[in-house]
Amino acid sequence: MKRIGVLTSGGDSPGMNAAIRAVVRKAIYHDLEVYGIYYGYAGLINGDIKKLELGSVGDIIHRGGTMLYTARCEEFKTIEGQKKGIEQLKKFGIEALVVIGGDGSFRGAEKLVEHGYPTIGVPGTIDNDIPGSDFTIGFDTALNTVIDAVDKIRDTATSHERTYVIEVMGRHAGDLALWSGLADGAETIMIPEVEDNMDDIIKRLKRGHDRGKKHSIIMVAEGVGSGVDIGKEIQSKTDLETRVTVLGHIQRGGSPTAQDRVLASRLGAKAVELLLEGQEGKMVGIENNKLVSHNIDEALARGHKIDEEMYRLSKELSI
Ligand code: ADP
Repeated sequence: MKRIGVLTSGGDSPGMNAAIRAVVRKAIYHDLEVYGIYYGYAGLINGDIKKLELGSVGDIIHRGGTMLYTARCEEFKTIEGQKKGIEQLKKFGIEALVVIGGDGSFRGAEKLVEHGYPTIGVPGTIDNDIPGSDFTIGFDTALNTVIDAVDKIRDTATSHERTYVIEVMGRHAGDLALWSGLADGAETIMIPEVEDNMDDIIKRLKRGHDRGKKHSIIMVAEGVGSGVDIGKEIQSKTDLETRVTVLGHIQRGGSPTAQDRVLASRLGAKAVELLLEGQEGKMVGIENNKLVSHNIDEALARGHKIDEEMYRLSKELSI
């Protein structure tokens, strides 16, 4: 193998740049050439591909977003789109590919593997929802962004004795809401993996208020429903002055934390190692702080699960 490619796809996450850097430097260290594919699978289909040198990835380790840009590409979900992508890779003499992205991007990678093209997946998403890795690149940064925001909201919540509903990202996964809720001492955490009873939540809020709590924080993962609607329901059923904050895209940006930079560097380099070993169709991950690899299809089939022990703990600590 002489030449590999790297792309980022789907939602961007802080640390993707550090992962690109690791792929490029590790590959060049092992005398491989590396080509960057711009704008994810869209750029793959269109041939938006350029050679990357050691200097191409200088001064990016601390930057959020992705220097290769990213995109969502419906055409790549079709067999014709996938074949066009493989033709481009062949045209450029690229023999194997590293895909950095979330579960959608991994499904795209799996399609390349089914067509016989060697591909390795690196989990990059703030959602922390890729089975086969305890953590994904970007989760720790997003978590710290949420915690910083909630700490600020808490100051005003206390001053005004208000109830705050804070909606965070996570359409299918509640990790960001669960971890930030635990780290911030939220009274209630609502995540898509657990069905909540609104009446119970209201009862808990009233009980807290009656025993003198100055404020309440309710973390809601967007997959549960609109934070605004939940806020209105609480206000109407409790008479507690309730405000809603939807954190939105600030959760995706910013300089990656040390954790994310180190994780991205380890996972990016591991992806290149697997290609050098002749492996394909794998995803890299971290489990119990050890680098691991799994078949992409098997990992995705497992489905994402939250840490139930942590969820129970969050309930116990917020009585
Ligand atoms: P993420 O990777 O962050 O989960 P998406 O779910 O939007 O983001 O997926 C990113 C891209 O991956 C999609 O726009 C599409 O090009 C590709 N993709 C997703 N699912 C499939 C699939 N089943 N087959 C082929 N490509 C897919």
